[in-house]
Amino acid sequence: MAKKLKIVVLPGDGIGPEVTKVAVSVLQKACEGSGVRLDFEEELAGGCSIDRHGVPLTPEVLKKAKKADAVLLGAVGGSKWDTLPAAVRPEQALLGLRKGLGLFANLRPAKVFSALAAASSLKPEIIQGIDLLVVRELTGGIYFGKPRGIKETAAGKKGVNTEVYTTAEIERIIRAAFDAARARGKIKKVTSVDKANVLESSMLWREVATRIGQDYSDVTLEHMYVDNCAMQLVRAPKQFDVIVTSNLFGDILSDEAAMLTGSIGMLPSASLGDKKNKLGLPKGMYEPVHGSAPDIAGKGIANPLATILSCAMMARYSLGQADVAQRIEKAVEKVLDQGYRTGDIFAEGMKKVGTEEVGNLVAQAL
Ligand code: NAD
Repeated sequence: MAKKLKIVVLPGDGIGPEVTKVAVSVLQKACEGSGVRLDFEEELAGGCSIDRHGVPLTPEVLKKAKKADAVLLGAVGGSKWDTLPAAVRPEQALLGLRKGLGLFANLRPAKVFSALAAASSLKPEIIQGIDLLVVRELTGGIYFGKPRGIKETAAGKKGVNTEVYTTAEIERIIRAAFDAARARGKIKKVTSVDKANVLESSMLWREVATRIGQDYSDVTLEHMYVDNCAMQLVRAPKQFDVIVTSNLFGDILSDEAAMLTGSIGMLPSASLGDKKNKLGLPKGMYEPVHGSAPDIAGKGIANPLATILSCAMMARYSLGQADVAQRIEKAVEKVLDQGYRTGDIFAEGMKKVGTEEVGNLVAQAL
């Protein structure tokens, strides 16, 4: 019998509600006949929650998100809330969710759909066929390390930040990367990126990655310095399967990898936590990389593919439904091959369609 799973949907602000509505219906259709039955529950987060409750994330919504098997988020924010003090801005909802759900691994795939290869700034022969995943550590490293701050000294001001990683923090992110390489089932290669020729925190990172790699004999491990990785991503990006790295390096490399593919409306993401769901898989929050796009909100023209592809990631990593994930990704590819495009990825000679129509086309192509 199909296992019943609870998905909390946080549509958020701007185009968030438009893209999540379409993505949920695609995911629901894709799961028909699979091993899971999804029960969706919609809640407020971000600016819409500020308007209703005075805070971007209520304790009740956080509690529901924690109990859920996975969370789907649209986007939060907009100029209406920009003048509020930082502590009650819509973005605080994201931080509250990340903290509350213990999300320590950020997964950002960069896949080039052949129909969109011309949208990249690199030559088609370099990017055609790219299908890589950047796994970024999200809760440690230099963004959180202490001591930090700006101090007055006799020689003038001094700015300090500290890169810190413990063995346990490195272990869990490296395992998440190896597990993802297995779940993707492609060439099964993990590239661990560090600066072990200079930084002690990286030396420990490399030592731990090597040890954990021995538990995954079916996955190849290689080490690469971050400066070389930045070059290799634009020189020969097809060599990569899964890249795993620290918070700071991942912040930069995931944006670099994303730009190989061309369009913000196409980029999905997942953040995985240390808690497991009913299936024993990591609970996660899935969201498009783009923001709430207030300039096009309410017009029915937003590209829902980033959110639809985020649902495919949910199927793969939190629902244990690799087949469903693949069907969604193939359906998206088919719709693009047929020449259907929203405005953000439109090119001469293509067929321009809106948000709902893209959703219907993907659902039909499943
Ligand atoms: P944005 O990603 O919302 O928009 C940047 C540009 O890309 C805009 O021109 C927009 O129209 C376009 N765009 C984005 N997504 C698109 C889609 N799916 N289809 C077609 N076009 C799309 O970034 P921004 O303008 O810097 O930020 C707008 C708001 O979103 C701000 O309040 C910001 O704080 C918030 N934001 C939220 C998140 C999040 O919720 N995770 C992420 C980034 C920005």
